[in-house]
Amino acid sequence: MSLANGAPKITFISPELTGRLGLLPTHRLSMSELRARRHPDDLERIDRVLEDFVTSGGQRPYDVRYRVRTNDGSYRWVHSRGNIVSDDNGTAQRMLGVSLDITEQTEAEERVRQLLRFDPLTGLAKPHKFLAEVDQALATIAPLPVLGVVQVKLLDLNSLIEESETVEDALIIHIIGDRLHALSDSALLASRVSTDTFAIATPAMQTAQAVHSLVQHALDRISEPMQVAGRTVRVRFHAGGALYPDDGDRAHGLLRSSGHALEEADGAADAGIRWFTDGMNSKFRQRNTRLRDLASAVMNREIECHFQPIVDLSTGRTAGFEALARWRSAGEGLLAPDQFIGLAEEFGHIGQIGEDVLRQACRAAANWHVGSERAPFVAVNVSPMQLNNPAFPAAVARVLAESGLPPSRLELEITESALTKDPEAAAQRLETFRRLGISIAIDDFGTGYSSLSLLSKFPFTRLKIDRSFLTRYGLSRESTIIVDMIIDLGEHLGLSVTTEGVETRKQVEMLSRRGVTFAQGYLFSRPVASEDVQALVDKAWPMESGNWKAIRPERTKRQSRGPSKLSKRP
Ligand code: C2E
Ligand code: CA
Ligand code: CA
Repeated sequence: MSLANGAPKITFISPELTGRLGLLPTHRLSMSELRARRHPDDLERIDRVLEDFVTSGGQRPYDVRYRVRTNDGSYRWVHSRGNIVSDDNGTAQRMLGVSLDITEQTEAEERVRQLLRFDPLTGLAKPHKFLAEVDQALATIAPLPVLGVVQVKLLDLNSLIEESETVEDALIIHIIGDRLHALSDSALLASRVSTDTFAIATPAMQTAQAVHSLVQHALDRISEPMQVAGRTVRVRFHAGGALYPDDGDRAHGLLRSSGHALEEADGAADAGIRWFTDGMNSKFRQRNTRLRDLASAVMNREIECHFQPIVDLSTGRTAGFEALARWRSAGEGLLAPDQFIGLAEEFGHIGQIGEDVLRQACRAAANWHVGSERAPFVAVNVSPMQLNNPAFPAAVARVLAESGLPPSRLELEITESALTKDPEAAAQRLETFRRLGISIAIDDFGTGYSSLSLLSKFPFTRLKIDRSFLTRYGLSRESTIIVDMIIDLGEHLGLSVTTEGVETRKQVEMLSRRGVTFAQGYLFSRPVASEDVQALVDKAWPMESGNWKAIRPERTKRQSRGPSKLSKRP
C-alpha cells in the first residue's frame, strides 16, 4: 500500500487473496473497493486501527481481523498485519503487509468459544458465563431490589442409575433447556451447571415474594409433563434457592448458598424447593470446620473407641463388647458417630478412621481376661467403603497379628448396604475373614431390602436385630411377631441373634422367652471409655431381678439435639 501523495493506495495484493474473494487473479483491487467489501460491523474499527497506525508512523502495530465480502455474497475472515516502510528522510512511504484468509480457523475458534460459553445439549450458558451475567445484573441493580439464584437438580434420570447418559436423558435435558430458553423472555438467566443440575437467576425484583413466585412459575414450567420417546414423563426435582442481598452479594456467593439449600432439599423425602436460611450457613460452616479437623483427627489420636457390653441372656455374663467410635474434638468435646462418620465416608477418611478404631479395639480386647475361655469378643463396625476396598482383609489380618488378639475374638459388623455394590467381591472378602476365623455379624438387620436368597450367599455368623424394632413397636404384638420372624430367619440361616437397643426389663423378658441369647442396650450399660471396661468384663448381670436403671448417661454430642443446645464436655 502506498502512503505517499495523499490517500493510501493498494499497490499490490496477492492473486491468492483476490482469488479467494471470487475475483479474477488479475483483478486490481482498489482501496475503495476493498473498503466497500468489508463487513459493515468491521468498518469503523479497521478505519480507526489504520488511522492510528499511519499517524503513529508505524509505532503502533497494524494488526486486524475483519470480514470481506466475496463475489457470491458470503464473507471471509481476513487477518492483516503490516509495517511501515519509510524513505531516507523517515517519511512513511509504503505499508508492507500480509493478509491471510483465516475463515476456517475463525469459525473453528468461534465454535470452541460457543462450546465454552454454551452447553451444547441445551444451548444454555455455561456456569462461568452465567456467573458473569448474574454479576453484571447485580452491578446495575438499584438499591433494595431482590434477585434470586436457584439450582434445580433433576431426579430419576436414567443416567444416574445406569452411569451413562441415555438418549432419553438427553431428550429430557434438551426439553428443559428449551423451556428455560422460553422463560428467558421474563428476563430469567439460565445455565446447565452439571449433568443433572440447572441454575436460574431471576431479574432484580421489588420483593422476595415476587422472586419466589417467578421461581415457582419457572419450576412449574420445568415439571410440566413432556413427551419422551412415546412416553409421558414428568420430571421431579430438588431445588435450592438463595436471595440477593441477604444470602450473598455476588454471583458466586449466591450460587454457593443455593447449593447449600439444594443439599438440604436433597436430604428431604419430598421433591421441591428449599430456600437458604442462616441456619444452613452455620451448619455448613460447622461442617467445613469439622471436615478440616477430621483430616488430622486420626493423627492427633482424637478418635477413641468406647465399648458397650453385649450380654448373654442365658448366663448373665458379658459375651462381648461393641466398639463404638467417638471423636474427642479439642473444640467441641466428645462427638457421637453421627457427627462425623458420614462426613468421613463422604470425604474418604473412613478407611483411616476405621482402621484406627479396629486397632484400638483389638488392642483393648487382647487385655480382657488374657488366656481365659470366657474372654469376651469385640465387635467392630465396618463401613461399606472399607469392605469395598480390596486391601481391607490384609489390613485386618495385620492389625490382628500386631495386637495378638485371637481372630475368634473379633467380630466384624457389616450392614446390608455394604453388600449391594459388588456382591461377589464382598462375598469373597467375607469368606477370607471366615477362613481366618473371624466372625461376621449382619448389622441393623431388618432395615435394608436384601432378599433372603441374597443374604444366604454370605457367610454370616450372627444377625443383629436393629433397635428400631424394639423402639418402634414397644412391646406390642407387632414387636414380638417381628422378633419371632427374625429369630426364625436366623435359625433358617444358621445364625445366632443379638438384639440391640434393649432399654427395659420387660424387653429382656420378652426376648429371653423367644430364645434370643444376646442383648445389648442402655438397660445394661451405655458405651463406656476403655478404662471403664474391665469392671463390665467380669460383671454378672442379674437376670431375674436387679436395678439396671442406675446407668450414668454418656455425654456425647448428637445430631438429634440440634447444634444450639449441644452439651459441652464437663
Ligand atoms: P450401630 O452399629 O447400630 O451401633 C449401635 C448404636 O446404638 C450406638 O450408637 C449405641 O450407642 C446405640 N445404642 C446402644 N444401646 C442403645 C439403647 O438402648 N437405646 C438407644 N436409643 N441407642 C442405643 P452410636 O455409638 O451413636 O453409633 C451410631 C452408629 O455409628 C453405629 O450404629 C454405627 O453404624 C456407626 N459407628 C459407630 N462406630 C463406628 C465405627 O467405628 N465405624 C463405622 N464405620 N461406623 C461406626
Ligand atoms: Ca454396629
Ligand atoms: Ca446396629
